[in-house]
Amino acid sequence: MPASISSGYRGLVYKVAVPSPLRRVFDYLPPEPNQSIATGTRVQVQFGRRKVVAYVLDKASNSELELHKLKPIYAVLDSEAIFPTKLFSLLQWCAKYYHHPLGEVLSAASPGKLRSSIPLYPQEIVYRANSNIDQSELNSLSRAPRQRALLKFIKKNSSASRDEIELAGFSAAIVKSLEEKKFVERAERNLNSLELFSPLNSVNPSSLELNSQQQQAFDAIKLNGDKFNCFLIDGVTGSGKTEIYMQVMQQHLSEGRQCLVLVPEIGLTPQTVNRFSKRFDCPIAVLHSNLTDNERLDAWRRARAGSVAIIIGTRSAIFTPLPNLGLIIVDEEHDGSFKQQDGFKYSARDVAVMRGREENVPIILGSATPSLESLQNAESKKFSYLTLSERAGGAIKSKTTIVDTSNEILDSGFSEKLLFKIDQHLTVGNQVLVFINRRGFAPILSCTNCGWIAECEDCVSQMSVHAKPPSLRCHHCGIAKQLPILCPTCHEEGLTTIGAGTQRLENFLEQRFSTFPVIRIDRDSTRSKNKLTSMLNQIQIGKPCILLGTQILTKGHHFPAITLVAIVDADAGLFSPDFRGQEFMAQTVVQVSGRAGRAKKSGEVVIQTRHSTHKALIQLTQKNYKELAMYLLEERKAASMPPFAQLVLLKAEGNTLNESINLLQRMNKVSIKLIRESNSNIRTVGPVPAPMEKKAGRYRAQLLFKAENKNTMQQFLTQFVYQIDQIKLSRNLRWSLDVDPREMI
Ligand code: ADP
Ligand code: ZN
Ligand code: ZN
Repeated sequence: MPASISSGYRGLVYKVAVPSPLRRVFDYLPPEPNQSIATGTRVQVQFGRRKVVAYVLDKASNSELELHKLKPIYAVLDSEAIFPTKLFSLLQWCAKYYHHPLGEVLSAASPGKLRSSIPLYPQEIVYRANSNIDQSELNSLSRAPRQRALLKFIKKNSSASRDEIELAGFSAAIVKSLEEKKFVERAERNLNSLELFSPLNSVNPSSLELNSQQQQAFDAIKLNGDKFNCFLIDGVTGSGKTEIYMQVMQQHLSEGRQCLVLVPEIGLTPQTVNRFSKRFDCPIAVLHSNLTDNERLDAWRRARAGSVAIIIGTRSAIFTPLPNLGLIIVDEEHDGSFKQQDGFKYSARDVAVMRGREENVPIILGSATPSLESLQNAESKKFSYLTLSERAGGAIKSKTTIVDTSNEILDSGFSEKLLFKIDQHLTVGNQVLVFINRRGFAPILSCTNCGWIAECEDCVSQMSVHAKPPSLRCHHCGIAKQLPILCPTCHEEGLTTIGAGTQRLENFLEQRFSTFPVIRIDRDSTRSKNKLTSMLNQIQIGKPCILLGTQILTKGHHFPAITLVAIVDADAGLFSPDFRGQEFMAQTVVQVSGRAGRAKKSGEVVIQTRHSTHKALIQLTQKNYKELAMYLLEERKAASMPPFAQLVLLKAEGNTLNESINLLQRMNKVSIKLIRESNSNIRTVGPVPAPMEKKAGRYRAQLLFKAENKNTMQQFLTQFVYQIDQIKLSRNLRWSLDVDPREMI
């Protein structure tokens, strides 16, 4: 009989998650026979031709692979797991729920620096006793009592740094002799001497006295105690949500528990951080995208060691290890920046709720314009709904006027009525905010002679005209070109700009209101942090001026001298092809409007539209955001769209549209078969070219899945992803999943 076919290696192997698009774990041998490595530890492994940082998931007593196919782990990087147990299981949940490779999820959740082989904590040189010394050698020290004493000291402490040795009263020369005689040797030790922060007093003298609505909300949160519950605070801008956050935080900080605060954008809102640091005399770490890798690692290390009390951060801060987590807050929970759109696509808000559950701590979501998802969770009692309908601190609610521009000739986008109002407010010494959701000078450059339109060659999209510096720019891929003088097609002089962006409005307003400064705040004007700070300072002084800007302005700034907010054009959102278009429009309008009349001065909001009878706009202005949101929820329910159904978008990207569509067609065959076999209630739409068919030179297509039941969707996806993962892709073809997509582009 032939020898039986060997069934793989028997012996200790580690299951390792490697950051790679492959959705599977890999077996590696321990570096030393039977060396034990804890789950969650970072290791370095040879993967293909590269050495990569990977994560130990599990161990096993055998492998399906033969011994000669197994490589040993190249290096164990840390002596402990990088993520605490509960965070590690949250990350595993993320990989499962978003169907993203675990190795990539773990890597995305780590600070950039730790994706290379540097140690978790800085290392210092220490001395250890050499274990091979025998008694006779020791006897040779009998005539060197200081050396013997130091050796004893090092043995007792298992290791000692130069500083520790010096503190104990031994000179450098004594260590040197011991080292030369090989009684001690050098080793590295993790420098993790960070101390836990000291709990605050439970009463903070600068806390404000809460008004009755605030008190009700605070009491409800306090009554819940330390355990998991998700609170949704639906409170108009200026209603004192932040004051509630701070008072709840005070409770947890006084118990020595850490508070994690997620905000949409901090680089732009130093005011938020200032408010927290003024209130709390405790260590605060700030985590956002403008930090250098070293700054980020440093903040992360201190948070992980429990030595910072408050962590304020953007999206990815949700993955910060916090040994004493007590409370999570997500401010402006509706904000789109909480959704990661590329790579590992996740919603930091949703992950935050999951983290609260996993760590059994309370979580507060706050917004003046809660997402329809969160409002529905409140309706169905999954979240506890708390509402603040009045502005705190005596500010008066602003008055909203709609200006119908359908029969008007506009001057650079402004109606006479609006210009008159701007003039009025400036003349009495107030500030005016003009909002337009488009940067650049104009969105379109066109030829009046032949109809040519400037388009980006790499994206199926028009290029915007910029005046400063003069250029054509693609807002999708960032490419910039020289502004042509003649039409590139008919070579005539008929080029003209259509529509208006911030730069054109800036020119116009500067001419029209020449005695007042115009301060433009958009992505182009705020590239430099110093420039932004100086612009914000100029506004804070409170002299009359026009503040002109995009979405950036809606993010939490306090501008007490603004009394008029003008929304130049509300129409794009009303007729957006995106099913969330009206929700987003309403959120933007309300958020921008919230900048008016924040202090003692009353405010006024003017909205220009060509569709003044649009139902959504009427609901919003005559009633309020909540009324409109409830109406939109009814519509979503009738159409069976989120939050009443789950969407998953399968995206493909290739060098030609055909290639991308073909791949999705192949994948769709798999899905049709799976859905038929399991008789699941899942609908597919597509494959179709993506709304933005070409971006940065790549052709994009998509296939949409919709299910009314999340479990049905999850079961389907698990099988589906497993099967499509086996499809061999040609070199330039890529696919990815977006579970709960926010935008359909
Ligand atoms: P939100 O976070 O809802 O926009 P804030 O907490 O920033 O509201 O409060 C708006 C303004 O009202 C701030 O200037 C704040 O100091 C003030 N404020 C909040 N709560 C109170 C209160 N209970 N009494 C007096 N002023 C308050
Ligand atoms: Zn032309
Ligand atoms: Zn482009």
